[in-house]
Amino acid sequence: KAARLAAFDNHEQIWLGQDDERGLTAIVAIHNTALGPALGGTRVWPHATFDAALTDALRLSRGMTFKSAIARMPFGGGKAVIKADSKTEKTPAMLEAYAEMLAALNGQYYTGEDVGLTLDDANFLRERTPNVSGTTVGGSGNPSPVTALGTFLGVKAALKHARGSDAVSGLRIAVQGLGSVGWSLCEQLHSEGASLIVADIDAARVAKAREAFGAEVVETETIVAAEADLFAPCALGGVLSADTIPHLKARIVAGAANNQLARHEDAAHLMRRGVLYAPDYVINAGGLINVAAELAPEGYDRAEVMRHVALIPETLMDIFQRAEAEQRPTNDIAQAIAEERIAQARAA
Ligand code: NAD
Repeated sequence: KAARLAAFDNHEQIWLGQDDERGLTAIVAIHNTALGPALGGTRVWPHATFDAALTDALRLSRGMTFKSAIARMPFGGGKAVIKADSKTEKTPAMLEAYAEMLAALNGQYYTGEDVGLTLDDANFLRERTPNVSGTTVGGSGNPSPVTALGTFLGVKAALKHARGSDAVSGLRIAVQGLGSVGWSLCEQLHSEGASLIVADIDAARVAKAREAFGAEVVETETIVAAEADLFAPCALGGVLSADTIPHLKARIVAGAANNQLARHEDAAHLMRRGVLYAPDYVINAGGLINVAAELAPEGYDRAEVMRHVALIPETLMDIFQRAEAEQRPTNDIAQAIAEERIAQARAA
């Protein structure tokens, strides 16, 4: 309850979709729409309690507001959580019920893939309601490769700032989570000569990574403490906490997962330990940029998306430099930039 209260941040709307017959418990959290309609993926995850699912939706939707503002997209922040196991409980009937919920929201919330919701699921929803992007039904497909590209460019920006060179060759990089984004990031890091240390709860994925990249496999509990130059969280949130930060060996954290910090204050903890942190919603904005481009009135333009994603390292560099000059955590700087843009939009 306390975590949920802490996650609540004047969210504009919170919708609950409940259909016991078709097995749906869904929360749509709309955080802020000052910059445009809410946009954010739908996560399907078997949270232990309803409170945990709600807290997740509240935190993720808030992150989307900042992500959109930092990336200068004309969208607000929203996110949905379906409380279910995507492997055993995600049925066509359940998705059908969720599509009805999305349709009832009538364009206030646009969604797409996230952990547990695949491209096929997004296509299924898009066939039933128009407010879904990142599909192949008249869309640009799964945004994950674009997220991974932005993250890779962000990793290089962080290396450049912290070490004076953006080369990954010969560096030890720990990647937590080998899903759509983590795997694609590993491919890029491996192709430029990085040594990979990986962990995933899915044994088949780590076995594949050992074979494809010669990656060193470690336990999911110990990847944070891996002897690495850079740690790239690409699984779920809350990985950087008062419990884990003291064990972190890497001097840089730059990865795609949303809500990497268990609490906002953890960014200051990282700074005190001399760890450069790339704010998650800045480095992982590639997917948002891609799906938002699908919804642009002029239509999807891949070249424009790539130009926009190429700005991610510049934005990060700016944040790193300001944080250093002002001796403030990178997360505080990013949030201040986002809040200023939202305030300007409100005033306008
Ligand atoms: P995914 O579901 O494809 O992959 C997640 C992976 O993490 C899976 O392989 C899963 O087994 C693994 N995992 C789960 N718990 C773990 C743990 N405790 N330790 C190690 N591995 C664990 O999801 P994805 O699309 O690759 O997204 C990864 C992260 O990036 C998520 O936090 C997501 O919100 C964020 N993100 C994704 C996108 C996108 O375009 N897909 C965009 C922005 C942010």
